[in-house]
Amino acid sequence: MKRGQKKTDRAPYVIGMDLGGTKILAAVVDGDGRIKAEAKLKTRAGEGPGAVVQRMEEAARQAAQQARVKWSAVKGVGIGVPGPVDPEAGIVHHTPNLQGWEDVPLGPQLSKALGVPVYLENDVNLGTLGEHALGAGRGTRDMVGIFVGTGVGGGLILDGQLRQGFRQAAAEVGHMIVMAGGPVCGCGQRGCLEALASRTAMERDIRIGLAAGRESLIPKLAGKGPNSLTSGVLAKALRRKDPLVTEVVGRAQWYLGLMTGSIVNMIDPEMVVFGGGVVEALGDSFVAPIRVTARQHFIQRTGVESVRIVASQLGDHAAVLGAAVLVRQQT
Ligand SMILES: [Zn+2]
Repeated sequence: MKRGQKKTDRAPYVIGMDLGGTKILAAVVDGDGRIKAEAKLKTRAGEGPGAVVQRMEEAARQAAQQARVKWSAVKGVGIGVPGPVDPEAGIVHHTPNLQGWEDVPLGPQLSKALGVPVYLENDVNLGTLGEHALGAGRGTRDMVGIFVGTGVGGGLILDGQLRQGFRQAAAEVGHMIVMAGGPVCGCGQRGCLEALASRTAMERDIRIGLAAGRESLIPKLAGKGPNSLTSGVLAKALRRKDPLVTEVVGRAQWYLGLMTGSIVNMIDPEMVVFGGGVVEALGDSFVAPIRVTARQHFIQRTGVESVRIVASQLGDHAAVLGAAVLVRQQT
């Protein structure tokens, strides 16, 4: 037992973190990409960046303690951030979910506090990297990740490498316009995919339906709060064949399918992986209709079935595992 313990202590661990609007997740990941232990703390973004950075330090140290890994065995920390970052300088430019975060030098600050190198990347890019290295996309050369939750985000792997683009803003699939003059998006444009197919957009359309007197199980299933229409509630309503929810979700799937078809026509990847809160709650039943619509719109009709369009394998852990992969690539 003791010999095993010693070997464990020497193993090259890294910590992957996911900085969300409501929670901070930190996971100790071993050399085989397995999570040994994790810690979860509330973000409490209202207390400002300084307090959040302190809690991130606490989460990282807690995760190491829970994994019984000495801090000296931790090689580095990777962080998924919900917004645009400068990975070289370790700066978070701004994030809509974390008020007051404008050009915060998160990388240098946390690196000083923890005494190890810290690397940042956009959380959706890391989710894509995680799925490519350790999840559904293992072994693919070209892969696209699409994450459907409160927003819609994307990531791009070409020749086995994450591609961030010239200004670190590649694969913003959520803001591709799929309906000119359509509903207003959070970004200010009209008709973005995110304004038609995110959970937020589905919620808007369900509430419009309810206000128009449509029959639905939602009032019974969802309760009254403003944040009550969760992905879990959508899943329940779909299982019970709620007509309003089935119609609204079906429309979102249609737009996601059209866009996936367009992405395949542009890049011709081997695989498109769907992740995020909605996909986690609904699984392949959410992806299947998207796959059908996408394939109908492929221009190249040879090998249509060979382009795999699948649900994420890593679920909630895609970003922390991607963060761990990022650290290993950098060190
Ligand atoms: Zn937009």
